[in-house]
Amino acid sequence: MTEELNPLRIVAGQIKDACEQLGLSESVYEILKEPQQFYDVSIPVRMDDGSVRTFKGYRSQHNNALGQYKGGLRFHPDVYPDEVKALSTWMTIKCAIVNVPYGGGKGAVAVDPRDLSKGELERLSRGFIRAIGHVIGPERDIPAPDVNTNPQIMAWMTDEFSKMRGYQALGVVTGKPIMFGGSLGRSTATSRGVVVCVEEAAKRIGLDLDGATVAIQGYGNVGSYSGVFIQELGAKVVAVTDVYGGVQDPDGMDAMALVKHVEETGSVVDFPGSQPISNEDLLTMDVDVLIPAALENVITSQNADQVKAKIISEGANGPTTPEADRILAEKGTLVIPDILANAGGVTVSYFEWVQNNYGYYWTADEVDEKLRMLLVQAFANIYDMHEEQGVKMRDAAYLAAIKRIAEAMELRGWV
Ligand code: GLU
Repeated sequence: MTEELNPLRIVAGQIKDACEQLGLSESVYEILKEPQQFYDVSIPVRMDDGSVRTFKGYRSQHNNALGQYKGGLRFHPDVYPDEVKALSTWMTIKCAIVNVPYGGGKGAVAVDPRDLSKGELERLSRGFIRAIGHVIGPERDIPAPDVNTNPQIMAWMTDEFSKMRGYQALGVVTGKPIMFGGSLGRSTATSRGVVVCVEEAAKRIGLDLDGATVAIQGYGNVGSYSGVFIQELGAKVVAVTDVYGGVQDPDGMDAMALVKHVEETGSVVDFPGSQPISNEDLLTMDVDVLIPAALENVITSQNADQVKAKIISEGANGPTTPEADRILAEKGTLVIPDILANAGGVTVSYFEWVQNNYGYYWTADEVDEKLRMLLVQAFANIYDMHEEQGVKMRDAAYLAAIKRIAEAMELRGWV
């Protein structure tokens, strides 16, 4: 990977620009350019054949000026320290944008969970929590799902942590199953947020979503429900891809039928009635809305000038490189940055933690309504700054977030 694509360099550059524009003291950037703590652990796991394999695990605690470290855990074979550090930095920014009282953290295990049996996956999940258990907790650092992790994994982790401490610590992890301290609406919250942002953006640029065309890269938790929700608004999902390939149909494909197809076959590939499409071709399709919901650095200087979508809502973290962002801005593409577009997940994680603390649970409608309120507000702030100050939405989002974080750091006497 070139330095230009190193996500830690990218996010540090964004923070530096924002600090300069806000006229903040050097010390703000000095603190924010690196995580406060970074843990690198080795997790021994007894495999089904009796052998022991060790896995690399990481937890990055970027900043806790605004509250506990908060952010997901991903299981992916290619994760590397700078990526995890960058992802934790984005969490600090994201929480500040939607105004949930958290800082930022992120963790990862270098593994392809598809290679493990259910028992091995459980032992790995519990082993990871034993390895980082001394530095997390409901009042300290709160993990959640991310790429390739799910409510079952969160349940094992919460159970393991509760056993370590000797009491029920439901608030240590969010994104848990409903039967075990989870919140209604959490599993679809990120997608809900992605689509609320598209709705708000469409109103601002005068795009009618009824009949609008949508392409989605990544059909996991975030991509799939983004398809379901945007279809409810009358839009047509005309293309979707995943790690195995992709499918397209100019007349639109039923997003929920696609979810079922993935449940049955493990991929979107060969969805009945569709034609194949590659991941690269999906990004440059002639559609109204593009939702990248997979991994980092997919819209780059190589393909940005061919992107035809009017609105991009970043379900993934870091899908657009800074150079691509500049190209898109020049073309007039409205990019809703990840730190706003996918903030619905952590917002409902916050609601889940609040409910765990109260021991009193809300209805799905209450959760959805509160989520929408926070996101519409955050979107309006950022969009207005974008228009009034003539800056990209991403830059506006960084400015708003860094201002809040710097204020908290100043109040605490750190800068
Ligand atoms: N992994 C999600 C994200 O990147 C959610 C984090 C959380 O709920 O803490 O925002």
